[in-house]
Amino acid sequence: MTTQSSSTEKFDVVIVGGGLAGLTVAYRLGDKSVLLLEKEDVIGGRTVSMEMGPYIFNQGAQMIPGADSNVARLADELGVRRTLIDKTKTCTHMNGKLVASSSDFRYLLRLPIPLLARFKLGLNVLRLRSRYSGVVDKPPRADDKRFRELSEQSLVELMKIRDPDVKALWDAFSMAASTLACDEVAAFQPVNTFLHHAADEFFVEGGTGQLTRSLGEQISARVETDASVTSVESNGGAVTVKYQQDGVACAAEAKQCVMAIPAPSALGVLRNIPEAKRAALAQCEYGAMSSAAFLVDKPSEHFLGKGIWRIPVVGKRIIGISDPTYTFSAQMKQEDGRGLIRLYAGNEASEKLQEMPDDESLAIFEEELVEVFPEVIGGVLARAVKHWPHAICPWRVGRLDLIDKIRAPYDNIHFCGDYTENSGLESAVLSAIRVVAELGAGR
Ligand SMILES: Cc1cc2nc3c(=O)[nH]c(=O)nc-3n(C[C@H](O)[C@H](O)[C@H](O)COP(=O)(O)OP(=O)(O)OC[C@H]3O[C@@H](n4cnc5c(N)ncnc54)[C@H](O)[C@@H]3O)c2cc1C
Repeated sequence: MTTQSSSTEKFDVVIVGGGLAGLTVAYRLGDKSVLLLEKEDVIGGRTVSMEMGPYIFNQGAQMIPGADSNVARLADELGVRRTLIDKTKTCTHMNGKLVASSSDFRYLLRLPIPLLARFKLGLNVLRLRSRYSGVVDKPPRADDKRFRELSEQSLVELMKIRDPDVKALWDAFSMAASTLACDEVAAFQPVNTFLHHAADEFFVEGGTGQLTRSLGEQISARVETDASVTSVESNGGAVTVKYQQDGVACAAEAKQCVMAIPAPSALGVLRNIPEAKRAALAQCEYGAMSSAAFLVDKPSEHFLGKGIWRIPVVGKRIIGISDPTYTFSAQMKQEDGRGLIRLYAGNEASEKLQEMPDDESLAIFEEELVEVFPEVIGGVLARAVKHWPHAICPWRVGRLDLIDKIRAPYDNIHFCGDYTENSGLESAVLSAIRVVAELGAGR
C-alpha cells in the first residue's frame, strides 16, 4: 500500500540517478543544496562490483580508459587507486582456436581466415590506426571530419568488408562496445573499441565500484536510495520530482533537475516533454548485457595464458572473456592457488539469459567457458551472474546529427549519462562536467 508524504522539500538541484554521472555532478556541485535519488538500494549503477574469493568481480564496467582521461583524473582526485593493465598480447578466440601474440603482425598472420582476407585486414588496420587514433574516447563532435566519416556509415561500408570471417571478427569488437554487429552500428563504435584495445587501461583497486563508493562518501548532497523517481515535471520556475520510497509517495521541488538515468528510463518519467526532445531520446535504445564470473581452482593464467587480459570471442553466445586477476601480484596468485574468469554476453543472447533463473544462465556460461578452456571442467568453486537490461546505448548511423538534441536541456531540466556522449565511464564523467557547466556552478 502506498501512503502519501505530507511535505514537499525544496532544493537547489535534484539529481535523478546515482550512477557515475549523477554522483560526479553532485561531487562537482560542492556545497549546494542537492538531493540525489537512486532507485536501487545502493548507489553505483553500472559500476557495481563484488568480492569473489580474494578477487573482485566487476559486474559492470571493468576498466578505466586512458592514463589522462577525465575519469582517470577523477579517480586520482578522489584518492581511488588504479593500476595499469599492462597487457602484452593481442588475442581472439575464433573457429575453435585461441590466437594470441605480442606482435600485431604475427597475430594477424595466425588468424584462422583466408590469406587474402588477412592481408586486406592488415592494411585496413594500419589505415584505421593512422587516421582515427586521435578520436579514441573523445566526446563526439559534429564539426569533426573524422567523427563524421565514422558516423555516417557502418564499418562494413567504410572498409568494404566482404569476407564473412572478417565480418565476424569485427562483430566481436562491435558487440563488446555496442551489443550490436558491425553492420548495425556506425563505424565509430567498433573502431573506437579496436583502437582502445591498444591504449592504456586501468583496473580500479577494490573494483570499479570504489569510484562511485568514494564519490558517495565525499559528496555533501543528501542521497536517498530505494527512491524510484516516477515523474519529473517543469512548472515555470521550478521542477517537481515525485518518487516512491518504502511504499511512501514523496515529492521534492528544485530550481534545477539533472536527469542522470538511461534515456528509456528518462522518457518513462518526464512529463510534458517537448516533442523534439522526446524524439531525440527515443532514438537512444539500449542493448542488453550479462556478465558472469567463475572462481576456479587454478590461477587464471593457467587457462588464458601469459600476458592475456582480455579475449574477444567470435561466433559464440559469449562475446568476451577476461582475467580480473590480471593486476594482482604473481606471488599472491601463486600462494592463493585460485583464479577468476569473467565472461560476458550481449544483446539477443543476453536477453534470453535474462529470462532464465540464474542457475540456468550460469550453466550456459559455463558450457561456453568449457568449450574455450576444456581444463576448467570440475574446477569451478563459485559462480555469479549479473544482468543489465540497459547496458549500452549503441551508436547508430546518423547519431552524430542528433547528439546536440540528446544533450540539450529544456526549461530547467538537464541531461547527463554516458548516452549523451558515446558510452562508457569516460562518457559518464564528460557528461557530468558538461551539465555542471550548464548549471553555472561547481568546482
Ligand atoms: C557489463 C558492462 C561492462 C562495461 N564495461 C565498461 C568498461 O570496462 N569500461 C567503461 O568505461 N565502461 C564500461 N561499461 C559502461 C559503463 O559502466 C557505463 O557507461 C557507466 O557506468 C554509465 O554511468 P551512468 O551514470 O551514465 O549510468 P548508470 O550507471 O546506469 O546510472 C544510472 C542510475 O540511475 C538509476 N535509475 C534509473 N532509473 C531511475 C529512477 N527512475 N529513479 C531513480 N534512479 C534511477 C539506476 O539505478 C542507476 O544507478 C560497461 C557496462 C556494462 C553494463
